[in-house]
Order: sequence, then structure tokens, then C-alpha cells
Amino acid sequence: MSLLVLGSVAFDAIETPFGKTDKIVGGSASYISLSASFFYNNLNLVSVVGGDFPTNFLNILNSRGIDTQGLQIKHNEKTFFWSGKYHNDMNSRDTLITELNVLGDFDPLLPEKYNDCKYLILGNLHPAVQSTLIERLKNKPELIVMDTMNFWISTAKNQLRDTLALTDVLIINDEEARQLSGEYSLLKASRIIRNMGPQYLVIKKGEHGALLFHKNEIFYCPALPLEEVFDPTGAGDTFAGGFTGYLAKTGDTSFTNMKKAVVYGSTMASFCVEKFGTEKLLELTDDNVKERLDLFLRLSDMGF
Ligand code: AMP
Repeated sequence: MSLLVLGSVAFDAIETPFGKTDKIVGGSASYISLSASFFYNNLNLVSVVGGDFPTNFLNILNSRGIDTQGLQIKHNEKTFFWSGKYHNDMNSRDTLITELNVLGDFDPLLPEKYNDCKYLILGNLHPAVQSTLIERLKNKPELIVMDTMNFWISTAKNQLRDTLALTDVLIINDEEARQLSGEYSLLKASRIIRNMGPQYLVIKKGEHGALLFHKNEIFYCPALPLEEVFDPTGAGDTFAGGFTGYLAKTGDTSFTNMKKAVVYGSTMASFCVEKFGTEKLLELTDDNVKERLDLFLRLSDMGF
């Protein structure tokens, strides 16, 4: 039984108050699958890149047990390119450039062996592509987790609503939750969004942690206070990868276990922001993850 990851594999150019990068490797699926690989080792990837993409990065994914048979390489086209600039608070950013390139007409083809998918995570991509993949799976996965962003909420809202209706968990940030629901209060927003389909909703609040909503329950997990945040790019995807990877590893999709998954997601995201792009995730060890989880548990220990 596998965990299937759909999303972008991309080039990013990032500007933060601490520095600037030229084109580096990023993309929602890159962060999600790398993060999930710390928890689960039967990972399959569906995405697309152009002929300009470094095969070396694909080898790195493979070395972490991530199957890339479902990653199409369009030799005569260019890889998706995104560029963003962070504000001084590092919690908000402006998208400067989105060049869809190969993503413009991406048809998410599914290798036959990926049909054993038990858990599906739909990383940030056009919602119609996300729903096409769901339709193509021979069996409905036990859990469908979805991520999206402001770009799709404003350019493809109706298709986004259709895809949302097919999912179990939505992971978005506070700004996106407000945009999608039209409500400022996150409590009201959470009810409106859950009425659109997903029974579970995670709202990420950057350095202020994350909220998990289900029925009448709310769980809050803080973010680890860090001395240095270099680049928040991919933190949301890394969260989603850790969250879903942990659920897949434990095989338990109850609300109680999802609380733990939120803590693991937050743990992984806290690493991601410490260096530019995927750099930190690539040098991480299982022991690093264990140590940081411990810090997290002590952070909210109220001593009762
Ligand atoms: P995050 O910081 O978690 O929201 O994710 C950032 C990643 O999302 C970057 O690596 C981008 O390549 C990718 N990304 C940005 N815009 C899009 C988009 N419209 N569709 C798919 N991926 C995107």
C-alpha cells in the first residue's frame, strides 16, 4: 500500500530579507515527498518537469525511496518557474512570477502500479489536475489530503470547490482560509470550508502555529520559536508531507492521531525554514527529527 504524491516539481527564485537565490529546485511535490520520506517508504510521485530539470535531483528523490516513474519529463519544454519575495515579518510574501510552462497542459498520467494507493496527497496544483488524478485511481484512497494556494483560489475557484468535495483533509494557511470562505474569523471560516467537503481542516498560521478542526473539536499546535528563519518557502508543503507521512506510517486516520500528525508536520516545517529551498531537508537525519520532536513536546508541556 502506497502514499501517492501529486504536485509541482519546480524551479524557484526566492528573495527574503536574508538573501536571494537564482533558480533553485523547489515545487510542492518536492517538499512533500522529501518530508514524507522520513516517515514512510512506499512513496510514489506524479508530476512533470521540462528538459531543463537536473536529473541529479531525481536521483536524490530515488535515493530517499521516492518512486519517480510517474514524473514525466517533457524534453522540449521548460520546467514550472515560481518566484516570490518575503516581507520583513517572513509570514507573508508576494508572488513575483508564475510561469506555468510544463504545468500549463499537465495531464497527470498514472503508472499502473500506483493504483495500490491507500493515501493520496494532492499538493498545490491546478484543482482540475488534482481531481483528474482522483478520478483515474481504480480504488478510492482511504484518505485524500489536499493543499492549495491563493493563486488557485482566485483563478479557479469553481474547480477548486469541485475538488474539495472529493477530499477528506484540507491544509491551507490563514490568509487562504479567509479568502476561500469570505470570513475573517477562522472559526467561522473553518465551518464554511468544512461544509465544502473535507471533514478535517488544518489552518497554518506561520510562526503562530497550526489549528486542526474536526466536528466540534479544535486542536492547536504552536510553531517552534526559531532564532533564524531564512526562507519559509516550502514550509507548508513540508508540513503536509510530514503530516500525511506520519498518518501513512501509523495507518491511523483518527482525529486523535491527526493531532500527532500536526505535531510531526510542524516539526518538519521547522527544519525547512532554516535554509534556502530544500537544502535543510536534504541534510536532515532521523535523529534530528526525534530531537526536535522532543523540543516540541516540551514547548507545550503545561505541567499538569
Ligand atoms: P509553500 O511555501 O509551502 O506554499 O510552497 C512553495 C512551493 O510551491 C514553491 O516551491 C513553488 O514552486 C510552488 N508553487 C508556487 N506556486 C505554485 C502554483 N501555482 N502551482 C504549483 N506549485 C506552486
